[in-house]
Amino acid sequence: MFQCIERKVNELKTDVKNPSTEGMPICRLLIFAVRRSAFKTVTRMDHLKSDEQYMREAYREALLALGRDEVPVGAVIVSRGKIIARGHNLTETLNDATAHAEMQAFTSASNHTGGKYLNECTLYVTLEPCPMCAAASMWVQLGEIVYGASDPKRGYSTLNASLLHPKTKVRGGIMAEECGKLLSDFFKRKRL
Ligand SMILES: [Zn+2]
Repeated sequence: MFQCIERKVNELKTDVKNPSTEGMPICRLLIFAVRRSAFKTVTRMDHLKSDEQYMREAYREALLALGRDEVPVGAVIVSRGKIIARGHNLTETLNDATAHAEMQAFTSASNHTGGKYLNECTLYVTLEPCPMCAAASMWVQLGEIVYGASDPKRGYSTLNASLLHPKTKVRGGIMAEECGKLLSDFFKRKRL
């Protein structure tokens, strides 16, 4: 019985992976482990909730592009939980093939921070970035990219996955269906 408890406690110590648990009484260790797992759950849920909230804002930007009869792609840049920049595709409006949502957002974010590097920022964009925007994210040393729909034809990951800054983290698939449908509906209407 005692050996069984001892084993459980050792498992718990390994699980919580914290040197401060060394010598901690069993009851405090249990409280510590429960609090820690609760904290993990809360932060994970917050993170997911935030991802969707921020992607929803990027989606709103995509709708602004759609309102201008532009390919509906939108982006926001988040720093320390706050949206510091927004952008949507303006290639037709500006008669500039490089005026992608991400490029607008990078420039706006740098203007906001007063620095050219965005290593503490996360880009939320409704479509996987193209190679140009992926390379731009390397130049600004972007912290993280979170995208909605994948772009198997023109996305950077198909054409050249090594374009990003080595420290840039990437996640995809947030609101992928909605973001992708906005684009496919747009192109369907254009073909009619
Ligand atoms: Zn692009």
